[in-house]
Amino acid sequence: MGKEFKIAVISGDGIGPEIVAEAKKVLNRVAEVYGHTFHFTDVLMGGAAIDKTGEPLPQETIDNCKASDAVLMGSIGGDPNTSPWYKLSPEKRPEAGLLRIRKELGLFANLRPALLYPELKSACPLKETAAEKGFDLVMVRELTGGLYFGARRTEEVNGERVATDTLVYSESEIRRVAVKAFEIARARAATKAGVTPKVTSIDKANVLDSSRLWRDVLNKVSADYPDVTLEHMLVDNCAMQLVLNPAQFDVVVTENMFGDILSDEASMITGSIGMLPSASLNESSLGLYEPSGGSAPDIAGKGIANPLATILSAAMLLRYSLGLSKEADAVEEAVRKTLADGFRTKDIAGDANDEAITVTGTAGMGDAVAERI
Ligand code: NAD
Repeated sequence: MGKEFKIAVISGDGIGPEIVAEAKKVLNRVAEVYGHTFHFTDVLMGGAAIDKTGEPLPQETIDNCKASDAVLMGSIGGDPNTSPWYKLSPEKRPEAGLLRIRKELGLFANLRPALLYPELKSACPLKETAAEKGFDLVMVRELTGGLYFGARRTEEVNGERVATDTLVYSESEIRRVAVKAFEIARARAATKAGVTPKVTSIDKANVLDSSRLWRDVLNKVSADYPDVTLEHMLVDNCAMQLVLNPAQFDVVVTENMFGDILSDEASMITGSIGMLPSASLNESSLGLYEPSGGSAPDIAGKGIANPLATILSAAMLLRYSLGLSKEADAVEEAVRKTLADGFRTKDIAGDANDEAITVTGTAGMGDAVAERI
């Protein structure tokens, strides 16, 4: 029996509208094949919202997102050197919309899968042994606490300036992101036979009190998940292990700033920003799904942007907000098949002289994935 869902759509700026159109194409195909109905509502945020309303995040957008089951987003922002949006005060710029929507929707957990597709092995900058083994991990970054949200000040002390930032976490803030990480590990393992789910918690417990509390809460939460292995790793070691042996990771959970840095590192070892989805989740099932890359003003309007990160974000939307795991698997499998059949956008084309490769545009890639569902 098909189900009905409301999805708010923020196409945004730059390549945003182009890549979102392809994700909608794939979701419409999912609806057709599985008998669901998706009601899309287009809402404004970022530069497009500034141009129409003078505000980067109109109230109507917030209300619409809150009344939806999920939010699908392209990307926001323009070229900071040339776009008039960057002559506005910081709270009126496109990015202010993104920070505020996260807060309004209470999106405390940011998920970024980093997956090396065998077909794109040559794009991986790691030495052959690591690339050969492949990897498939998810970074879960705490998004609304930690060092980026603690009190900060700069003051004059003994004739010089002294700056202070504080890293604050309550047990409840740690617990909710820990629970998300364990749930995600379980959900990922559910569709893979013979895989024991694992959570690697990253901290700096040899130095920081906040990390010692983090570790303690993780240990307590893990008691509720006997089927999931928990390991702890220091953040500096994790930075090394990610380039040495990324295959060892399944779900990685960490503090806001550690996660900011490590998730960028994890993205880059896949070799391609156009392939990487992301999800930001709150305590309910509502989430915001967007590609990890930005609005790519350099290629906007050319029809060459890679839509796969946005399509894979739509797969995460199906899995985490709509509870449609089978459909999410179908989208991910269709992406795999599309790559295996040789379709590539320019950014992942590598050796375009290879006869097995078909270089296509944004819409061509969306068509190829939709056809394979
Ligand atoms: P970017 O990710 O937009 O672009 C970096 C490079 O990656 C560019 O060469 C671009 O062409 C390429 N690229 C990105 N996505 C691609 C895709 N799907 N297919 C093919 N190539 C792709 O980063 P930037 O240039 O630093 O930022 C541009 C704008 O995007 C800025 O205004 C920035 O603030 C904004 N931004 C927004 C978000 C967001 O919406 N969450 C995230 C990051 C940056």
